[in-house]
Amino acid sequence: MTATVIDGKAFAAKVREKVAGHVDRLKQDHGITPGLAVVLVGEDPASQVYVRSKGKMTVEVGMASFEHRLDANTSEADLLALIDQLNSDASVHGILVQLPLPDHLDSDLVINSIDPAKDVDGFHISNVGLLGTGQKSMVPCTPLGCLMMLRGHHGSLSGMNAVVIGRSNIVGKPMAQLLLGESCTVTMAHSRTKDLPGVVRQADIVVAAVGRPQMVPGDWIKPGATVIDVGINRIDKPEGGTRLVGDVDYDSCAAVAAAITPVPGGVGPMTIACLLANTVTACCRANGLAEPD
Ligand code: NDP
Repeated sequence: MTATVIDGKAFAAKVREKVAGHVDRLKQDHGITPGLAVVLVGEDPASQVYVRSKGKMTVEVGMASFEHRLDANTSEADLLALIDQLNSDASVHGILVQLPLPDHLDSDLVINSIDPAKDVDGFHISNVGLLGTGQKSMVPCTPLGCLMMLRGHHGSLSGMNAVVIGRSNIVGKPMAQLLLGESCTVTMAHSRTKDLPGVVRQADIVVAAVGRPQMVPGDWIKPGATVIDVGINRIDKPEGGTRLVGDVDYDSCAAVAAAITPVPGGVGPMTIACLLANTVTACCRANGLAEPD
């Protein structure tokens, strides 16, 4: 079997097109321009790349982008003051603080100082609680993107066995909550899981969010399963230079699975598209308008 490739780039382009349509209507019909503020503290090279591409895509769909680049030594008080200002700025509908923050800053404190209604990353404790109890919330972008691709590929996920490898607050846990919300039978695996290959072999859906290059080999995958690879790992190429790989061994998994997301071009592009979609949702909610579905 050779797996169908779930094209995250194409999915993301459709999501962005839909977002652009909503933005256009918000502008034309209501005179509102959705705005996304991104706060970057320090000079982490990967974060700089993410922030630049988030800003570019925000503008491309017609929204306003507000970038705040702060020195690595910025005090917690100054960062909290900026968030406070963004919380009360009516032209800002979404606020994202790029993680990781420098060590001297308390990420939980900072994230929980964002107005939950503007927390487009869905990391605020209120949004975590709302998601966990199945209520309307802001859903973290990466797992939301994974879910959209799964729904797009399968339609209903009801009754499927899903194994999520990784239990981080930003990917693994919210992913498991979303799959539970779709009536999957969900297993969360992590570094202490016994017989991980045996656990993964039960899965109709495998979501790998581990941060270990090519960790999941094809012989862990049940024939016909769907594999969503969240991992983004840079490895050395034998001939020199580097390349990006996921948390699954693509070739051996694609030989067994029915469908698989590639790296790059899978989950990554969907993450930013979902950030834009969340910003439009936040803008509609802030203005008492019907939300996009
Ligand atoms: P974290 O490091 O926060 O979490 C990794 C998880 O993997 C932990 O729960 C850990 O278990 C588990 N784990 C580590 N080693 C093993 C192992 N040998 N067997 C089983 N489980 C293991 O990572 P993130 O969730 O933040 O990110 C995961 C990956 O996804 C990374 O590659 C990251 O770059 C990528 N990513 C991609 C995004 C995208 O847009 N595509 C967005 C965010 C992340 P334990 O809890 O027991 O330590």
